[in-house]
Amino acid sequence: MSQSGARGRLAPVSITFVASLAARLRDLELRTRPEHPDLTAALARRWEELPAHVKTRNQMLGRRTAGCEGTHGVFPRCNLACTPCYHSREANRVRTDGEHTVREVERQMAYLRAERGPGQNAQLIGGEVTLLEADDHAGALQAMIDHGRKPMSLSHGDFDYDYLQALALDPATGKPRFRHLSFAGHFDSMMYGRRGIKAPESEPALNPYRARFCEMFARLEREHGVTHYLAHNMTVTPANVDQVPQVIRDCREMGFRMFSFQPAAFIGNTSRWKHEYREFSTDEVWRRIEEGAGARLHWGAFQIGDPRCNRTAYGAYAGDRYVPLLDEDDERDARVLDDFVAAFGGMDFVAPTGVLATRVVRGLARHPRAIAGAAGWGRRFAARAGGLRALARQRPQALTYVMHAFMDADKVKPAWELLRRGELSDEPAIRETQERLQACSYAMAHPDSDELVPACAQHSVLDPQENVRLQERLPLLELPMA
Ligand code: SF4
Repeated sequence: MSQSGARGRLAPVSITFVASLAARLRDLELRTRPEHPDLTAALARRWEELPAHVKTRNQMLGRRTAGCEGTHGVFPRCNLACTPCYHSREANRVRTDGEHTVREVERQMAYLRAERGPGQNAQLIGGEVTLLEADDHAGALQAMIDHGRKPMSLSHGDFDYDYLQALALDPATGKPRFRHLSFAGHFDSMMYGRRGIKAPESEPALNPYRARFCEMFARLEREHGVTHYLAHNMTVTPANVDQVPQVIRDCREMGFRMFSFQPAAFIGNTSRWKHEYREFSTDEVWRRIEEGAGARLHWGAFQIGDPRCNRTAYGAYAGDRYVPLLDEDDERDARVLDDFVAAFGGMDFVAPTGVLATRVVRGLARHPRAIAGAAGWGRRFAARAGGLRALARQRPQALTYVMHAFMDADKVKPAWELLRRGELSDEPAIRETQERLQACSYAMAHPDSDELVPACAQHSVLDPQENVRLQERLPLLELPMA
């Protein structure tokens, strides 16, 4: 065989090999970047759109995250009754239909991936997610993961271990189909119809149900190695605001990693509005959260969107002491945050070890000052926790406190309609609502109209029409709930 003949046959193979190697290297380079370029572009757009009043040094929207996301119109029905309920009256007239859910989740997530890049937190939310068959629930979660979302299922928690197991395990192999599940369990005494406790008389009466919820996930991890992240959601009204500290104290060690409180708002089903929700301010709610946490909570260290909508305090318990991740009064901690964002931006820290290590190295290489800052922060955090010995004695348990204050529909409707026409209101309450909507950190996807809609506008304006349409497409075969 002549040399030239051999070269002639090898050349196409070599070209294919080189092309595939180059593609793999490009992919590796992309995966190990601190920030995917699509996310960089999405964050820049989000920052650009934000109103000036939230472009503060501690603002994470548009710098670290594009914001949270939620599904809508995918399974509107719920089998509990809450006062208040943020879903429209028509929601319970729509049949839960797995095929519809997975198809719509797929469409919404594809839009979110295109608009907001990868790695964002998305809630599988609407009515009650566990009314879906476990396989459909799993299909929806998989669609979210496939589109680069980090899904969290929002449930009232009134389901059994068998359901959780069926969700987590592949029915064909009996092996886990997810390595990790995130759930938010909504528990409060304004929820009626829970099995075993149809009408809770107090928040502590629900504690066995909260514990049962956490225990199911602990068992799933013990038996199948599927890890979990659990959040506790609670609506706050004049009826239970004084019980907030007790809930935190009683449930802090059950296994929740986040306690999120939503002061009630006048949105959704008007027949479910039972109290004068504006009797107390969000400051008062926060004071009770701090009372339960047993510490001042440094929510000013980080901001996600508008402070009138969101407060988030990151920290950890070292024994009984709650230690803030960053001290909002310490300029050195503020600089640590500046450096962290400059180095890592929206970097996703959940990645295989090798990919994560390379991302960290590349992030630090682009902003080396973050290294010295991190060392100083570590010393201060240890001192706040009572010293290295205290930390060694008891591993700190991370716990996040959140307050999310939705707005009333009578303000959101006019504010949203004006915003869509590009107009700002002169009426102070409507203008304030517009400012908050513009800085919204919780969006829902509308691929058909090419829009991202704040959850407040979704519930106040769009849900009722959407559910009327869904009611026709997915009529209920049984009697609706009131
Ligand atoms: S505008 Fe509404 S949905 Fe958006 S962050 Fe504020 S309260 Fe939440």
